[in-house]
Amino acid sequence: MTDAAQLAANWAGVRRQVDEACRAAGRDPAEVTILPVSKTFGPDAVRAAMALGLHRFGENKVQEIRGKAAVLAGEAIEWVVIGHLQTNKAKDVARLASEVQSLDRLDLAEALDHRLQLEGRRLDVLVQVKTAREESKSGLPGEALPAFLERLRAYPTLRVRGLMTMATLSEDADEVRACFRQLRELRDRCAAEGHDLPRLSMGMSSDFPLAIAEGATEVRIGTAIFGSRSKA
Ligand SMILES: *Cc1c(COP(=O)(O)O)cnc(C)c1O
Repeated sequence: MTDAAQLAANWAGVRRQVDEACRAAGRDPAEVTILPVSKTFGPDAVRAAMALGLHRFGENKVQEIRGKAAVLAGEAIEWVVIGHLQTNKAKDVARLASEVQSLDRLDLAEALDHRLQLEGRRLDVLVQVKTAREESKSGLPGEALPAFLERLRAYPTLRVRGLMTMATLSEDADEVRACFRQLRELRDRCAAEGHDLPRLSMGMSSDFPLAIAEGATEVRIGTAIFGSRSKA
């Protein structure tokens, strides 16, 4: 198979598995969006994915968005930041990103708001919550979420649309699923306090059916669409 044919087959396979997971959970497949994660893959892979009708791509490094956006200038692409963000990247994010799913601290909100005001733009954001036990996983602790959401009201350029998480890396499906359930329950509790958080971004190539069973509205899929990433 050519790369393009492989990509098309992968994409169709992922869409089918997402639809199956929705049906198994008694959910409408139209409720679940797939965010293709193009990190580490070059502009050619993004172009090939665009030929399949995809136009929104997840990336975890702002430098990488810069590089690809320069090559693909003029294309109608929405770049979604899903990786840990340093405040000194806020300027590029304000210019280039359509959305940030990894908002986890107030100094970052402040920096983004400042740069967005200068650009005259607003940005959709998801708050990343830490549900995994690994020290290495970033995100705001769940207990801190209600107060954080209150503070975000001070930043008019940030449209808070929901929550994002990465589950524990584990062979134990119950343990992985508990992370996703925790995010949904947090969302429900915050909704009861007046925070409208319709979007739940959770689930990756290895665990998206579990995330869909727990209410994901968006799954972030890299490997299952673009293939395995060389270690970098
Ligand atoms: C890389 C990445 C993904 C996609 O991971 P795959 O296992 O390749 O599907 C999803 N979310 C985040 C935050 C990532 O960094």
